[in-house]
Amino acid sequence: MNSSQAHLVPGRACGGCTSCCKDLTIDAPDLKKAPGILCPHCVVGKGCGIYLSRPSVCDGFYCGWRQMPLLDDGWRPDRAQILITTASKHIPAGYPPQGLTFELTGSLERVTWPPFLNLVCDLVEDGVPVFLSVRGEPGHVSANIFLNDRLRPAILARDAQGVMENVRAALQACLDHPKEKVAFDQP
Ligand code: SF4
Ligand code: SF4
Repeated sequence: MNSSQAHLVPGRACGGCTSCCKDLTIDAPDLKKAPGILCPHCVVGKGCGIYLSRPSVCDGFYCGWRQMPLLDDGWRPDRAQILITTASKHIPAGYPPQGLTFELTGSLERVTWPPFLNLVCDLVEDGVPVFLSVRGEPGHVSANIFLNDRLRPAILARDAQGVMENVRAALQACLDHPKEKVAFDQP
């Protein structure tokens, strides 16, 4: 999720979180890093070791938690074990062109976390495209599953058990999806 700092939640800082420095793929001319592998410049629990000279791709990146005022401190990605980023690919026709991806970066059981379920239900009901993403092994791509079509009937029926069953089915689909090793083009 990229933005100018004007879109950041006032008073909210990354603190000791370094989730994006580990969990995301970075493929920029001055930094290439596979997902699930800590950036060599990252100081765990502190932040970027080259902050003042960090690559421009890092300079402009902020996760969903830094930008969404409705998320409380429990949503800081290292605490929530869920990293929210912008989704703009593979969105089906009829939906807005931009949505959100919820990437599980720790325990898979975080799909049962009530704040996660409540937020996903609200977004789906509002028509916002939502993806669940599960990491492969370190260095491998993640699998993304579009949640809206799977969840909307149960959400509209106020069927909490049905929502949970469909979220678990989406999680299983992510786990079953092949996840290739990331290979960067040589310069
Ligand atoms: S994942 Fe979000 S909160 Fe964590 S370091 Fe990156 S931008 Fe900051
Ligand atoms: S260069 Fe700094 S901000 Fe960018 S991924 Fe590495 S540690 Fe994070």
